Amino acid sequence: MNNLFSLDNKKILITGASRGIGFLLARGLAQYGAHILVNATSRENAQRAVDILRREGFSADAAPFDVTDSQAIHAAIEQIEAEMGGIDVLINNAGIQRRHPFTEFPEKDWDDIIAVNQKAVFMVSQTVARHMVQRQSGKIINIGSMQSELGRDTITPYAASKGAVKMLTRGMCVELARYNIQVNGIAPGYFKTEMTQALADNPEFTAWLTKRTPAARWGDPQELIGAAVFLSSKASDFVNGHLLFVDGGMSAAV
Ligand code: NDP
Repeated sequence: MNNLFSLDNKKILITGASRGIGFLLARGLAQYGAHILVNATSRENAQRAVDILRREGFSADAAPFDVTDSQAIHAAIEQIEAEMGGIDVLINNAGIQRRHPFTEFPEKDWDDIIAVNQKAVFMVSQTVARHMVQRQSGKIINIGSMQSELGRDTITPYAASKGAVKMLTRGMCVELARYNIQVNGIAPGYFKTEMTQALADNPEFTAWLTKRTPAARWGDPQELIGAAVFLSSKASDFVNGHLLFVDGGMSAAV
């Protein structure tokens, strides 16, 4: 049967796939046949995730590099291209969050957030896209956030970085579509991971969240897999420049 959603023989590089949403996407996409290249800040972190995936019978390799280090990005991508014959899908997922009131936000935290969440999407995508252009094929998926649509206390630089991810997605789509490259984004709502642990531990936050979200609950990171499979597969070949909200309706509600 011709399965529109099959990822057989697809090599998918996921940044920040050692844990959290990136790891669950790695496992979810592997279930559809993809070979996963697991990125993280260190070889140890990446390899730990690879070992779990392999134990579960999936196909994966470690691809560690700091997404803020342009030389490391270049070296790693060139090695993958040479040894594995190319990256079919890139998922820019690595991200960080720091929380402070706006007037007290340290400049260093602003710089770190912009480097990982925003500049790295540009740098990793540019390096990978040069090869995709040569092959006239590829897909790039940027993990944004529904926070790009809403102002909220203590996370203004994070929200700004995710707003930039939205516009990187649209701009890259316009520049790369002519080479048969699709660039889309996924904008998650609130999902329980290490990044949101402090919020999940705060009953007042969960009470606010359930009231504010039409679905009236936290998201389960497994619920992001469908969007990633769709945007990685042939099923989305004419979907380009789109930001797919997976947020229980939060961004649609006042
Ligand atoms: P986690 O904190 O659980 O995981 C972050 C991942 O990013 C880790 O794999 C980490 O690797 C990696 N990472 C961080 N910095 C770098 C770097 N410089 N180079 C390479 N890898 C790096 O985050 P989540 O899983 O919660 O978030 C994943 C993405 O989803 C982020 O972009 C986030 O903004 C977005 N998002 C998350 C939401 C949520 O509710 N959780 C909501 C909306 C968006 P290592 O293990 O080596 O540190």
